Amino acid sequence: AATTIAQHASPPVSVVAPPPSKQDIAKQLSASAGAGAGDGGIFSQLTSNPFFTAGFGLAGLGAIAAFGQRGLRRAAGLIRQRLLVDVEISIKDESYTWFLYWMSQHEKRQLTSHVSRGSNPTEPLSLSERIFQRLTPRMRHLAVETSQVELPNGAINTHFTLIPGPGQHFMRYQGAFIHVNRQREANRTEMLSTGSRPFETTTLTTLYRDRFVFESIFREAHELARKSVEGKTLIYNARGVTWEKFGKPRQKRPLDSVILEKGVKQRIVADIQDFIGSAKWYADRGVPYRRGYLLYGPPGTGKSSFIQALAGHLDYGIAIINLSERGLTDDRLNHLLTIVPQRTLVLLEDIDAAYNNRRQKVEADGYAGANVTFSGLLNALDGVASAEERILFLTTNHIERLDEALVRPGRVDMTVRLGNATAYQISALWDRFYRDASDTEEAAKQMKDMFMMRLVECGALAGLEDGTMSTTSTAAIQGLFLYNKGNPQGAIDMAWQLSPAAMPN
Ligand code: ADP
Repeated sequence: AATTIAQHASPPVSVVAPPPSKQDIAKQLSASAGAGAGDGGIFSQLTSNPFFTAGFGLAGLGAIAAFGQRGLRRAAGLIRQRLLVDVEISIKDESYTWFLYWMSQHEKRQLTSHVSRGSNPTEPLSLSERIFQRLTPRMRHLAVETSQVELPNGAINTHFTLIPGPGQHFMRYQGAFIHVNRQREANRTEMLSTGSRPFETTTLTTLYRDRFVFESIFREAHELARKSVEGKTLIYNARGVTWEKFGKPRQKRPLDSVILEKGVKQRIVADIQDFIGSAKWYADRGVPYRRGYLLYGPPGTGKSSFIQALAGHLDYGIAIINLSERGLTDDRLNHLLTIVPQRTLVLLEDIDAAYNNRRQKVEADGYAGANVTFSGLLNALDGVASAEERILFLTTNHIERLDEALVRPGRVDMTVRLGNATAYQISALWDRFYRDASDTEEAAKQMKDMFMMRLVECGALAGLEDGTMSTTSTAAIQGLFLYNKGNPQGAIDMAWQLSPAAMPN
């Protein structure tokens, strides 16, 4: 078997005739050189063989082509080195999405300007502009980025953004031609703080003399990204082991629109602002830079609304985790809390769910399903201290189910009860809805007094002093006012619906 292989492996020519040795070739060459062409020397034999000459010619051409190609490549390399500049951005960089978004907007502007200039016969296009115009439509690979936003009424609103897709693009910016190459690596994914995505890079290339445009491009892209979220609050949801942006940034909710008991809002805002300004104080003392707030009270008292408004006020985003979500394990919670996106308030909703799990666990004396446990929650709150600040908001409808271990400085530093609406809150809410509905201030006050009296009469409110608590949530009162939008009399007529007897339990 070994010989067969050896025979197969050796070139077929060696089987037919053994190759001439070096001396033989030298001898034959000198013989042919001495004897001149045509007298049977090997050289003349070879040159007179048309097959050989053709083959030789082809090989020669191939060599020249290869040489030429190499030369061209070298020349191109030299030109690139000398004349071109490129910038590579990877998907891991924050400016990646900014740039793609900027480019889509830039191309849109370019197209409009081309169309309007092209239709103006008095202003002919330059040659380069004409070439560019021809190139652009064909270079257009767009990718669609879709995001969905759930509206408060449950409807889904979908937004599309067209961004340059993977592939090559040309664009022109401030007179410079720029080649953009967006490349995706199919078998490599990258874990980002906003989810995992295929790894990508985008390379921008331009002429050396135009290199300064890059700085200007990135400045514009950053400005555009900042503007697109200006006046908005970014919401993140936990997905798997990462945070993902949830829908489009939402319009900021004004802090004034949330009405809490007198002084409560100011107390929390002052505390958090003091915390945000104290990074050095914490660092100097080696204390983990974190603060926790616990808001508790019945549903519809403004816990979520307040946190959203506060985030807007501070210009922070919100990262939300619902602890009653199935499949959220202790490990996942712990991990998520260590990779919170920058400048975000973390909102842990329904923290009593974790306590339920502990009870279940104790009762069942075993596996409590893949949910967060109370000790898991405490661990996550204590978690490994990172240098970054962390502001946590915990909410619950059932404070009585919580453990004292939770309310310990470092875990929860401030506890605030948001109860049913007080007379003060009802009055302030009325003003927000109906201040402009009456002709005079006096008339407006009269209507409000009438409404408040009706609430007392029907048993929803025990008295008119500011701090007196009603039997109804702020959300229910807002609901009534919304139903009677611009119609204070309607609200007064329907006030009885807020009585404890009329309210569904
Ligand atoms: P919670 O988180 O306490 O259950 P939400 O913040 O979700 O309550 O409030 C539900 C609805 O009621 C929201 O539309 C909100 O605007 C309104 N609402 C509740 N409390 C207040 C409040 N104190 N001030 C203004 N609006 C409120």
